[in-house]
Amino acid sequence: MELTNPSVIKEILSRNGFSFKKSLGQNFLINPTVCPKMAESAVSDGETGVLEIGPGIGVLTAELGKQAEKVVSIELDERLRPVLAETLGEYDNIEVVFGDAMKLDLGRIIKEKFGGRKISVCANLPYYITSPIIMNLLESRLPFSSITVMVQREAAERICAKVGSRESGAVTVAVRYYSEPEVLFNVSRGSFMPAPNVDSAVIRLKVLEKPAVDVKDEKLFFKMVRAAFEQRRKTFQNSVSAGLGIQKETVRKALLECGLDENIRAEKMGMQQLADVSNYLGSIKA
Ligand code: SAM
Repeated sequence: MELTNPSVIKEILSRNGFSFKKSLGQNFLINPTVCPKMAESAVSDGETGVLEIGPGIGVLTAELGKQAEKVVSIELDERLRPVLAETLGEYDNIEVVFGDAMKLDLGRIIKEKFGGRKISVCANLPYYITSPIIMNLLESRLPFSSITVMVQREAAERICAKVGSRESGAVTVAVRYYSEPEVLFNVSRGSFMPAPNVDSAVIRLKVLEKPAVDVKDEKLFFKMVRAAFEQRRKTFQNSVSAGLGIQKETVRKALLECGLDENIRAEKMGMQQLADVSNYLGSIKA
């Protein structure tokens, strides 16, 4: 079945009484070159199991089914059940689980379906939950070796930015803490049906065996990072003291103790510097 052919897609969807829901980020891929490349990236590290989020009509799922040994795909929209039964019927190595990827117990699914072994994630993500899904996957510490996902181009740039650059944000730091991200290739808005208002990019996060820096209290670290980037025009000292409810003088002292300028902004700080300051703040709190 030619699942990137707009007439084929329209025919299957209309026969099943399906109409696109913008609120679920339903923009389906119609560019035939994209899915083989994404699937290749997901299996390139040698993993034979792949978890997909949001199969839509199954265009990427089918490609994953061809390249991987086993694919489990999670779809929220029950209306796609008959569609997927039809489009993926010929693949006995693909299983679709219906539910919300943000709420399902992914650990249990991986244990049940993959025996708890290392797997890859591959998805054309619904854009309304890009960052929460990526953060959930990384923070879960489940056995993922890599995460290959399509996101909006702007999100790709932010997620894959260098920590300490103008494009960086709290999500950049969090992603770099757990993984090594890279932009693989760009995808134009015309590659989707319906076409969204923005272009996209496929990124790949190679999950690290252990976090990039040594952080004593992760909760404090991420709270501090979120506060530091929330008001990016303010100095680190001002935003962190406001965000964490601690004295400005304490933050100033932490910066100086770590060999940093007291007026530094978060976007000028590197991963190790952020870790040092949070470890210092944690040590005086303890
Ligand atoms: N993979 C298909 C493709 O590339 O054509 C569809 C991608 S579309 C951008 C996102 C898909 O995610 C839709 O099928 C949508 O119904 C599904 N979805 C949205 N929110 C979800 C959630 N919370 N959990 C699982 N799937 C979700």
